[in-house]
Amino acid sequence: MGWYRAQEFGFDPRVCRGVHVGSCVAGRRWPRQSDWDVEAHAHNVDYDPWQGWICVASERSLFTASRRPTRVMVHEYAHLLAPNSRHGAAWQEAVVALGYPSEAEWHRPSHPRRPPRRRAA
Ligand SMILES: [Zn+2]
Ligand SMILES: [Zn+2]
Repeated sequence: MGWYRAQEFGFDPRVCRGVHVGSCVAGRRWPRQSDWDVEAHAHNVDYDPWQGWICVASERSLFTASRRPTRVMVHEYAHLLAPNSRHGAAWQEAVVALGYPSEAEWHRPSHPRRPPRRRAA
């Protein structure tokens, strides 16, 4: 439980207002038992008073061993950089610019075979 500042991930604090760990900052019912495979989500729509926040289920999803943001964190940060969209062109462009072209590839509807793995919403 707790929260982190954007700067700890190298994220722009004007884009990311904070990272909330252990539950949803807005008190959304999450994670539910059936949603344990969803590690994180971003609040990226204008009408959400919590816009700019990333919520993460577990501290384990925050940093890599070398203290860099994980793929999950980059995925969510890309959502904040491309507000009001899901996994469309703007989000894909953002995640590629952040260095994860494979993440954009995986979320294309045309991806030939998505390997089963934990997903980030
Ligand atoms: Zn949340
Ligand atoms: Zn996503």
